Amino acid sequence: MKVCLLSSELGPFAKTGGLGDAVAGLARFLAGQGVDLRVFLPFYSSARLAGRTVVPVEFLQGLTTELAGRAVRYGVHTTALPGTAQPIYLVHCPALYDRRGIYDDRGDEHLRFALLCRAAIECCQRMGFGPDVFHLNDWHTALVPLYLRTAYGWDELFAGSRTLLTIHNLGYQGIFPAREVDALGLGPARALLHQEDLARGRLSFMTAGILHASHLSTVSPTHAREILTPNYGFGLDPLLRARADHLVGIVNGVDYGEWDPAADELIAHPYSTADLEGKEWNKKALLEEVGLPYEPGVPLFGVVSRLTAQKGFDLFYDAIPELLARRPARLVVLGSGEQRYEEFFHALGRAFPGKVRFHCGFSNPLAHRIQAGSDMFLVPSRFEPCGLTQLYSLRYGTVPIVRRTGGLADTVELYDSAAGTGTGFVFDNFDSQALRWALDYALDSYADRAKWNGLVRNAMAQDFSWERQGPHYLDLYRRI
Ligand code: ADP
Repeated sequence: MKVCLLSSELGPFAKTGGLGDAVAGLARFLAGQGVDLRVFLPFYSSARLAGRTVVPVEFLQGLTTELAGRAVRYGVHTTALPGTAQPIYLVHCPALYDRRGIYDDRGDEHLRFALLCRAAIECCQRMGFGPDVFHLNDWHTALVPLYLRTAYGWDELFAGSRTLLTIHNLGYQGIFPAREVDALGLGPARALLHQEDLARGRLSFMTAGILHASHLSTVSPTHAREILTPNYGFGLDPLLRARADHLVGIVNGVDYGEWDPAADELIAHPYSTADLEGKEWNKKALLEEVGLPYEPGVPLFGVVSRLTAQKGFDLFYDAIPELLARRPARLVVLGSGEQRYEEFFHALGRAFPGKVRFHCGFSNPLAHRIQAGSDMFLVPSRFEPCGLTQLYSLRYGTVPIVRRTGGLADTVELYDSAAGTGTGFVFDNFDSQALRWALDYALDSYADRAKWNGLVRNAMAQDFSWERQGPHYLDLYRRI
């Protein structure tokens, strides 16, 4: 099996969220299965490559490709995917990738990611590598199917190649002014773009991918159904419905090498189901770290998240202050993003100084310690294609409280206190009353510690490893 994998993110080199984790985990799994794999991502100047060996690939230097009417120069460097011998190819083009972050607002994102698409195809040509599958991830890589049919359609090397576009987040579509079409070097392929979009003055990378990829996937079965509806389709549901026969959902795997409470070097007290006392020690350590008082029997909620509308924190405005005033509980929040949510959490911290701590920023070590030290983990998302943090929290016995949407619906099962089954607390409606119900149910359940420990063990026994999830991708590659 020959696979060419393209992504704008790959952890730990370049990651802003779950996409980086998912692509790295899949690549590691595929490499371990003996798949002949070529992985391409941009060589961002911000890439976290300290301590890694990065070398230019000799026969992939001084290359040019045509974009925006001129020859753009690029080369390719390589480094190993951490923990493997699998090479990763980094497309080096300082003019486009020397920026402060992974994404940029200078107005040339279409060129930055069109280059990634073209460079990956051209490097496959120079390697004499005809992939069985080009596996594309999100809008940044979604022009590959179109390029393969047009600019590179003459090359027999790709005659047997199929394309799979995995949609990690439909909320980001890569939309640009229609006049930029000419910059992409598509030539007559312009006619294959979505004509209504163009007539409305828009060029959408995601739309092009949905129209032209051989197959589509998203990152959970429930989300694969949801995006066919107007509520979750971001305006693309009619196009997706037309391709529903070629769309599947596969839940992301977790890298339990990084997220394992028994072997986590970032937490103070490793623990396992055999020794849940260690978890309480992590809670004490976390509360001390953030400066909140520890009190036996008082539960701690954790949040680690991008602070955007997707993540559902609007539901907190009513429910959380009321809950904190009414019941003993603590809350630790780690995240950053939109100002209105940052302001809300800062204000919450001021209103409940002994109960709430907000750490505004990004910190992987603190994310691990919140997973280990909290009793419950909150993910109230408005929509959630897969979600990784609830998978980590299951593993850490930090009982997830989630809204029943997308991957959250597929990975957390509502606790039944009578039967002792289930792994978390799941509410349906996107309103604060439903969240309040879940919070009260969770706090009431926490009071019965013997039963609670049963729930914690149920959660920790779940297996969302890549060893389990990865084979679904291999099956799909074979099928397409
Ligand atoms: P999304 O990709 O929509 O942000 P996911 O749940 O799929 O959501 O993945 C989020 C990933 O980013 C997880 O690995 C999570 O731990 C991490 N993360 C999010 N915010 C922060 C933060 N402020 N600090 C550290 N890690 C974070």
